[in-house]
Amino acid sequence: MDLGIKGKRAVVCAGSKGLGRGCAEALAEAGVDLVLNARGAEALEATAAEIAAKYGVSVTPVAADITTPEGRVKVLAAAGEVDILVNNAGGPPPGMWSDWDRDDFIAALDANMLAPIAMMQALMPGMMERGWGRVVNITSQSVRAPIGVLGLSNAARSGLTGFVAGTSRQVAPKGVIINNMLPGIHDTDRATSLDGGVSKAEGISPEEARAKRVATIPAGRYGDAGDFGAMCAFLCSQKAGFIVGQNIMLDGGQNYISI
Ligand code: NAP
Repeated sequence: MDLGIKGKRAVVCAGSKGLGRGCAEALAEAGVDLVLNARGAEALEATAAEIAAKYGVSVTPVAADITTPEGRVKVLAAAGEVDILVNNAGGPPPGMWSDWDRDDFIAALDANMLAPIAMMQALMPGMMERGWGRVVNITSQSVRAPIGVLGLSNAARSGLTGFVAGTSRQVAPKGVIINNMLPGIHDTDRATSLDGGVSKAEGISPEEARAKRVATIPAGRYGDAGDFGAMCAFLCSQKAGFIVGQNIMLDGGQNYISI
């Protein structure tokens, strides 16, 4: 399928690895030039070079912490006129409801709510002026099916979801389409670290922790960044103009939700 976005320009935040990289690759495959962000310069530059060589698009790496105002200034300075924004950042640590103080909540809100909102506020005015734009926010299944140990994530991502619910309806008349993607468990460093936490808490091996989780997924496996990226590219395509403010669950059927 021709997604109709060849020659467009995208910023992909937190995209040197995992789900962000999956989105970057799928956009590059559709012919989109990229400004690619992550904190660690080495992995970022390697990923940028691989994607540019494989798909023949321009990829500008910007090493910066997207959860800080200074980091965003660096990314936005490299961005120029952008048609597509993929918001992403690392997820907060697991724990118990009683573990967290104000600083922990502020850090989670900065990373998983306020940073994506700031990026939208910076880039959407230009998209609206030009009459076309696409925004995808990577959130989590925890927005629809909250996970006990991920209270910080449940809280911050729900805030972003509420913001998008209203904002997506305000900007759609100007051709800017915002949607959220809600990953269930995907095979990335984040999943390895979450399985490590379960293994420790339950006194089982990481392999057993993974097998236990796989048993709860009707698709019988973890998701991969390629599956995830394909949906992201579709939501950023010309074909997605009638999909507004949706929360799209990619979880292999793990969460039984009727709507
Ligand atoms: P990952 O494999 O750990 O990759 C995270 C990527 O983000 C890396 O490229 C990392 O590079 C970059 N990054 C992290 N913090 C950053 C920051 N502050 N500024 C800029 N770049 C940053 O994670 P993932 O599995 O792809 O997860 C992506 C998001 O989806 C996370 O918020 C995660 O909580 C959420 N999620 C994941 C799953 C899953 O199963 N994988 C499920 C539900 C939700 P640097 O470290 O070099 O910055």
